[in-house]
Amino acid sequence: MSATDILELTASAAAAEIAAGSLSAAELFDVYQERAAADRAAGDHGLNCFTWVAESAPEAVVADKTAGNGARPLAGVPLAVKDLFCTEGVPSQSGSRILEGYLPPYTASAVSRLSAAGASLLAKTNQDEFAMGSSNENSAYGPVRNPWDRSRVPGGSSGGSAAAVAAGLAPWALGTDTGGSIRQPAALCGIVGLKPTYGAVSRYGMIAFASSLDQAGPLTRDVGDAALLLREMVGRDERDATSLQFPHPIELPTAERLDGVTFGVPEELTGEGIEAGVLESFHAALDRARDLGAQVREVHLAHAPHALSAYYVIAPAEASSNLARFDGVRYGYRAEEPRDLLDMYTRTRHDGFGAEVRRRIMLGTYALSSGYYDAYYGRAQRVRTKISEDFRTAFAAVDFILTPTAPTVAFGLGEKTGDPLSMYLSDYCTVPMSLAGIPAISIPCGLSRGLPVGLQVAGSAFSENRLLDVAHALEGALAFDGSPARV
Ligand code: GLN
Repeated sequence: MSATDILELTASAAAAEIAAGSLSAAELFDVYQERAAADRAAGDHGLNCFTWVAESAPEAVVADKTAGNGARPLAGVPLAVKDLFCTEGVPSQSGSRILEGYLPPYTASAVSRLSAAGASLLAKTNQDEFAMGSSNENSAYGPVRNPWDRSRVPGGSSGGSAAAVAAGLAPWALGTDTGGSIRQPAALCGIVGLKPTYGAVSRYGMIAFASSLDQAGPLTRDVGDAALLLREMVGRDERDATSLQFPHPIELPTAERLDGVTFGVPEELTGEGIEAGVLESFHAALDRARDLGAQVREVHLAHAPHALSAYYVIAPAEASSNLARFDGVRYGYRAEEPRDLLDMYTRTRHDGFGAEVRRRIMLGTYALSSGYYDAYYGRAQRVRTKISEDFRTAFAAVDFILTPTAPTVAFGLGEKTGDPLSMYLSDYCTVPMSLAGIPAISIPCGLSRGLPVGLQVAGSAFSENRLLDVAHALEGALAFDGSPARV
């Protein structure tokens, strides 16, 4: 098979070719390794997707001639992994200077499950520092560029993962989503991104941002690949007390029609603040859903407009606590020649963290301080409960909720860095689902000004199988014209 033919394959198709013996795992690995390494070597002239790339195919890949059997369903397919997943002996820095060169002594459960299924680690991907951001401009390792237009951002915080998959530098990738970090970059790069139900995938070994929201999930070329990767990741892990046994096995999606499916469109997330071109694509997607036999009706998520305000109290509060461990004592960066302990802490954290992370730590610490706790954190939690109730009420009337994934297409590098509030608005449509802990997928639904637009489909907790099926049917009807090879 030629390299061009190999690059045309989805990850599932590549796995099938390997299983059939028409492609070797080593050949597949080498095609991607060469492309990923070239991007890394190009530095600022490339997309800057990666913070680490494997030097060569692992022994197991070279040796595995019987790859792709049922026991190792991902055998031979290389995987790019967001920097914040701990990978034993491989730099895991969460996009931060404070963890520069950190080599963890263990591997995150999500990654080790995928390795057990046969996936091999191709690269670690660039991200916003500690996953705080919507543009990948908050990385200590430089911004990632969008392969559709290099003067634009790929979205964030899983920007390196999204850009790598869109540009055909990795067959698929792992990301994390706290308020939109899988779905929004997937939308801006024209690929598929799934945030699973909170608890579906173990968080063990993920460098924490906001523990009650963080979820790992796939960034892929199509819905089938997302299902395959998810299938191998889910499940209870005794090392993460919030992980749950998925109530049934994840199945690969096959649906082509949507007869009997009812979609709800919340007025609150589909009107004001959404760019005209995005809305146009969104409404065209609703027409495709109707063509497939679905019903579309209005629903209300009355508290959704308050989701961002609640999120920007809850997420920084949890972050301020999670990030307290980075103090220069045990690992990571330490300021040189400190005068005393306090000076060591202060300078380590000042120099090691970037501006956005420091801003969140201060916001979070303030929100949790005694006397303010109830006014801010307590109140935000009450809003969170209201948002969950809104979804519960909506899902009594409709099967899934449809919204645009992001209010705009990819914006210019530097365009929003001076205005955190306008940056935070990038997650206007994704944060409500994060607060409610429900699954949501972004699939590409068209182009506006030549740039990809994402359609978000959200379902009730643990509805992944039906969600993936519905997304698969929509994907077929939308026939998004933007294969990675053409980027
Ligand atoms: N952009 C949001 C933030 O900055 C969400 C990030 C995420 O999901 N990790 O917090």
